[in-house]
Amino acid sequence: MSRLDCEEALAHLHDYLKRELTPELIGEVRVHLERCRDCSGYARFEESFLLMLETRAGRETCPKELRARILALLRAEAKGS
Ligand SMILES: [Zn+2]
Repeated sequence: MSRLDCEEALAHLHDYLKRELTPELIGEVRVHLERCRDCSGYARFEESFLLMLETRAGRETCPKELRARILALLRAEAKGS
């Protein structure tokens, strides 16, 4: 079975959380998250963020921009350490 690296796992994370991947990819992302503490922490953050967006959907006008900023910050942090 091919292994995803962190970049690939994170690239698929959003679709993974929304269950929009093939079963194969879901399995690969899950395996990566089980083995990689950095990515699993990030996944937990993303999951709660998605939930927050869903509960606020319709009330907030532009959460996308905020989300993009947070993601950029997190990615910069992950690369710097
Ligand atoms: Zn990782």
